[in-house]
Amino acid sequence: MRVLLTGGAGYIGSHTALVLIERGHEVIVLDDFSNSSREAVRRISELSGVDVPVIELDLSDREAAQRALAEVDFDAVIHLAGLKAVGESVEQPTRYYRVNLDSTIALLDIMRERGITKFVFSSSATVYGDPIYVPIDEAHPAGVDLASPYGWSKFMNERIVHGAQTAWPELEAVVLRYFNPVGAHPSGRIGEDPSGIPNNLMPFITQVAVGKRERLSVFGDGYNTPDGTGVRDYIHVLDLAEGHVAALERIAPGVETYNLGSGIGSSVLDVVRAFEQASGQAIPYAVMPARAGDVAVLQADPGRANAELDWRTTRSLEEACRDSWNWQSQNPAGYHA
Ligand code: UDP
Repeated sequence: MRVLLTGGAGYIGSHTALVLIERGHEVIVLDDFSNSSREAVRRISELSGVDVPVIELDLSDREAAQRALAEVDFDAVIHLAGLKAVGESVEQPTRYYRVNLDSTIALLDIMRERGITKFVFSSSATVYGDPIYVPIDEAHPAGVDLASPYGWSKFMNERIVHGAQTAWPELEAVVLRYFNPVGAHPSGRIGEDPSGIPNNLMPFITQVAVGKRERLSVFGDGYNTPDGTGVRDYIHVLDLAEGHVAALERIAPGVETYNLGSGIGSSVLDVVRAFEQASGQAIPYAVMPARAGDVAVLQADPGRANAELDWRTTRSLEEACRDSWNWQSQNPAGYHA
């Protein structure tokens, strides 16, 4: 297929681009580069040996999107572009709603005008809120008391996809609810490159390891978990990327929703230990108060994706730590070397 990959220069997008190309698909990267780098696309081309076309565009500008895509030939859209900083979304709710909703709406309208029916949407386990049971399957209630406009924007986008499909039954859509992506391509050429102080655990740890930050703050050790720190389901970004390709290749009319996770829960201290083992670097840390909005445990039941997409994770947390460290140590300043 010829796949329009929005957010294709970002962390998940760049790995997804590579896996799509490996599987014989053509990729057109669409990105506004507000939180990503052209260098990432250059490296996708370098690793794949394919010259990847790029459209620089803010998708929430509907007229600009219509103009820019008018002449572009594609069969499917994987929509990853969006704002994703949870804390920032609390400070700038209207910006998060506008950008994240307008871009999905513009894309779906353009697809319908053009008769392009295949749509994969990047959602998040954050739509489950504070879970009432774990591991979380897709039947778990979603969109109840979410802690941030970011989370709500993901949930509202899911509703928009469902609404669009009801009105346009030819639409073939998949909603992918990601758990916690970590790791990098084993070459060390592409990886996660957050701007400013990382919000997420793994890039914070790798920046401590490379000497950019003094110590990790562990956000709370009083949760009801085996060691008191938060438990998450970490998934290697290449496993996640393969999940997108599996979903695209099995897409059918309707909207299907899948959890993409490993099914394994790891605490903050488990991740610190796994990283120390994999990298040989000590990670000093201090326990700090819990972060607002965080929940004790988020762990996937990935059974539906395993069964229906014939997909499962194959890479361990240790491999993810090794690959994250390989990326960060080769690129201490990310793409901005
Ligand atoms: N965390 C932490 N210190 C950090 C960043 C995260 O202790 O600097 C914890 C956080 O409280 C959660 C886990 O690590 O339990 C994963 O957080 P992250 O922000 O990576 O992902 P989230 O699950 O919040 O989307």
